[in-house]
Amino acid sequence: MSEDFPRVPTARNVKFFADESRRPNIAMRDLLQEAPSAIGVLFGDALRWQFVNSEFLRVAGRNRAEEFVGKTIRESLPELEGQGFFELLENVYCTGNPYRGREVKAVLNKNGHMQDAYFNFVYQPLRTDDGHVQGVLVHAIDVTYEVLARNEINRRDRAIGLLAAIVDSSDDAIVSKGLDGVITSWNKSAEVLFGYSAEEAIGRHITLIIPPDRRAEEDMIIERIRRGQRVDHFETVRLRKDGSRIELSLTISPVKDPAGKIIGASKVARDITERRQAARSLRESEERLRKTEKLAAAGQLAASLAHEINNPLSSITNALYLLKHCPGLDPKAQSFVSIASTELARMSRIVKQSLSYYRSRVLPKDVDIAAAVDESLQVFSGKTDRAGIRITRKISKAGPVLGFPDEVRQVIDNLLLNAVEAMPRGGRLAICVHPSRSWRDPSIHGVRLTIADSGAGIPKGVLPRIFEPFFTTKPEKGTGLGLWVVYALLARHEGAIRVHSSALPGRCGTAVSVLWPHVFRLQPGEVPEASLAA
Ligand code: ADP
Ligand code: MG
Repeated sequence: MSEDFPRVPTARNVKFFADESRRPNIAMRDLLQEAPSAIGVLFGDALRWQFVNSEFLRVAGRNRAEEFVGKTIRESLPELEGQGFFELLENVYCTGNPYRGREVKAVLNKNGHMQDAYFNFVYQPLRTDDGHVQGVLVHAIDVTYEVLARNEINRRDRAIGLLAAIVDSSDDAIVSKGLDGVITSWNKSAEVLFGYSAEEAIGRHITLIIPPDRRAEEDMIIERIRRGQRVDHFETVRLRKDGSRIELSLTISPVKDPAGKIIGASKVARDITERRQAARSLRESEERLRKTEKLAAAGQLAASLAHEINNPLSSITNALYLLKHCPGLDPKAQSFVSIASTELARMSRIVKQSLSYYRSRVLPKDVDIAAAVDESLQVFSGKTDRAGIRITRKISKAGPVLGFPDEVRQVIDNLLLNAVEAMPRGGRLAICVHPSRSWRDPSIHGVRLTIADSGAGIPKGVLPRIFEPFFTTKPEKGTGLGLWVVYALLARHEGAIRVHSSALPGRCGTAVSVLWPHVFRLQPGEVPEASLAA
């Protein structure tokens, strides 16, 4: 703030002021009176003002020279007490060393108001010819405006820098655009979210990230911004650079220039894809649960009914058998009996399937899926031969699974039967057994059985219903219980089932995959993950 002056001989200056009789002195006073810097002369031990120019009066916030001339510094500027200036002046007077200050703050009483002012100044000792200090020249330049302007610029720079840092480190994508829709800023999160770098995005129109079917939204947004309104938590979809869509929540606010005129909009975007997906999958799993509960309830009911029907059914079967072999039964009665027998057989099938909902009371044991498949194929060989179905088997070595042999067989039988029934006029049947993991939970290891047929396929509209009890598209011989039972049995074994099917002409067919875990925990009510694809 200060530095020492080289000592300059100043005797002549003193004379100009001290000796009123000399003409050049007066000329010098007049000259200094209107100088653009503040000049004052202090004289004597008491440091009394001998002269102050008009700029001095102005910067000190005083009106008349009489407020200074003849008065001491303390009398004329009492508000400076405690601010260090008096001591500096006294020091200059005593030591004869000049003092220079740069941008020194003084709090001055300007017309009754205390105000900050900043000065570049020098306190210069004034000496007589013999070198004695007689007074002090005060020469100051008011730099208040410059200092305050610079402080303001620094403050704004810091604020802008801070703002830029906040914007850049924000987890939300922050983008601004002009009222013409041209992007003017693009933070780091926007780069990550949309895939465009700031260089790529700035200067482009905002439609860069708006899908064509949502362009109308932009007009609505700009219209609201023009009216000075915000757009809050607007949930919409935007485009990434790679063309993929993201679900976003946007908050858009008008941006104003210092004069308050709206010049554009800033947009904060938050990715809500995950939130939406979580909500969707919650809805889906709730739906699945409802469906499962419905299936279980229907299953329980069907199984209870079947249980009750089973005994009378056996009696009727026996009675019909006896009736059929009754001698003398006329042909008409014969044909009625045979209709009754066929329908009864159908009822028995339904009852048998439904009963499998009841668990057999034996303990589960190791079952070889491949061997069970072969046994099933053996049983179905008559049917497959008659229909002209070509069978390919691909069996990889897979360990045994834990289960009830009857139940494993029932799953395989039901799937094989469906495949065979889908190909009444022949086709290809591919069977594959190999070790695998559950597609629902990869920590579950087991054996995967896939049965694929080149049959009619399952139409898209039918696919979601195939696990429902009594749902069938086979009016003659269908019970609609096969897949329902498969589903229920897999549930008990923590297994999974996946159905892929196409009913498109030329490439129709169905592939059903079942994963049977090596081990399972017996947990009532657990259901397998069934996934369907058309
Ligand atoms: P059902 O065989 O008694 O009709 P399921 O529960 O076994 O009952 O099957 C339900 C329905 O699923 C069938 O009626 C059929 O429409 C369809 N479906 C199952 N498997 C196949 C398959 N391999 N090919 C074509 N449709 C099938
Ligand atoms: Mg079936």
